[in-house]
Amino acid sequence: MNKEKIILGMVKDFAKNEIGDFDMEIDSKRRIPDDLFKKLLHYEFLGLNVPHQFGGLELPLTCISDIIETIATANASVAVMLEGHIKTVYQLLRFGNAELTNEYMASALQSIFAFAMTESTGGSNPSFIRTKAEKMPNGDWCLTGNKIMITNGGLADVYVVMAKRTDNNKLSFFVVDKTMSGFSVTEQEKFIGLKGVPVGGIALNHVIVPEYHQLDMTNYDKLSIADSAHADARILMGAVLSGIQKHTLNEVINYAKKRMAGNQRLYEIQAIQRKITDIVTGYRTTQLLYQKAAQLRDQDADDYFQIATMAKAYGSRTAVQSGDDAMQAFGAYGFSQDFPIAHLISDARALEYAEGSVEKMRIEISNFEVNR
Ligand SMILES: Cc1cc2nc3c(=O)[nH]c(=O)nc-3n(C[C@H](O)[C@H](O)[C@H](O)COP(=O)(O)OP(=O)(O)OC[C@H]3O[C@@H](n4cnc5c(N)ncnc54)[C@H](O)[C@@H]3O)c2cc1C
Repeated sequence: MNKEKIILGMVKDFAKNEIGDFDMEIDSKRRIPDDLFKKLLHYEFLGLNVPHQFGGLELPLTCISDIIETIATANASVAVMLEGHIKTVYQLLRFGNAELTNEYMASALQSIFAFAMTESTGGSNPSFIRTKAEKMPNGDWCLTGNKIMITNGGLADVYVVMAKRTDNNKLSFFVVDKTMSGFSVTEQEKFIGLKGVPVGGIALNHVIVPEYHQLDMTNYDKLSIADSAHADARILMGAVLSGIQKHTLNEVINYAKKRMAGNQRLYEIQAIQRKITDIVTGYRTTQLLYQKAAQLRDQDADDYFQIATMAKAYGSRTAVQSGDDAMQAFGAYGFSQDFPIAHLISDARALEYAEGSVEKMRIEISNFEVNR
């Protein structure tokens, strides 16, 4: 058995024994228990894509995304917290210079990273963000602005922040850490899904960062600057959505095997079988899409972005639909907060916005095809 299969086997045991039992508690208490968080650090979940030279596991994306799916099968909030961290680490690895990577990469093993693009004036269209980066006479950058809806916002120590440069009006990314003067945490969102992962704002009040904290994207022409981070993130989100659907499927099958409707069990009724069929088809298709995208990305193929986007766009819709089918199959218990179906729907629904709204992703999938 190869190393990646062994790791995945260990993650399956960890997810089942250490995360699954806390699924309902994470939703009701709106937080990941401290002990579980410590275990995630202890077992190096923050180092999945960190290079060996900095002490990380440096796993391929095919393996990392399968790990994320496995974790999301137990609890989606934990998986999304890791997704927010991993995509930011990728962004730093791809576009950070050696000095910046050396400064921050080792800390990625123990502290959470976050990616901050969205503002009240710029969600789907980042050209309208107001955070500005002003070049100072000594070459440093002065950042000022407010970010909202950031996964791990408030929890993270390190942020990759999108700002508009005042010298050329172009969008650029800068690495900011929470110890810098002028950095503060603002409001947490009261989202109705993914309740265990903090999603919140940060404020930058004349935060001074050195020139080498700017990510270098001068030779980057593959995608728009905003989509540079979405590319990896959508594969990971496809994996989260696959996990949510697997979780939903497990719940429905367990329930349908136990629950009697008159003299037959639920799973023997054709209407319920149809729901199970639709759920498993959505789950398997999402899984195939994200796994294919991850494979292409590991091979550095150019066209993985379209399939990654399909994994998230298709996966988020089928995950919501699967939740709805499951809710119906459960009867009125599906509508109760004592069962996990309600939070599975809300968790999936959050991913129709995060990493690009479904509407925006449809435009991108179509544009990619038309301009191929
Ligand atoms: C759980 C969660 C985690 C998130 N994490 C992060 C994060 O880590 N970092 C970060 O920067 N942001 C994050 N976000 C924010 C997310 O990226 C935005 O919600 C998303 O980009 C949409 O922006 P908006 O909410 O401002 O919607 P708006 O841009 O205001 O759009 C409103 C509606 O109009 C539609 N729309 C807008 N423009 C068009 C168009 N041209 N054509 C068709 N339809 C259009 C949208 O699809 C949407 O339905 C997160 C959001 C959620 C829910």
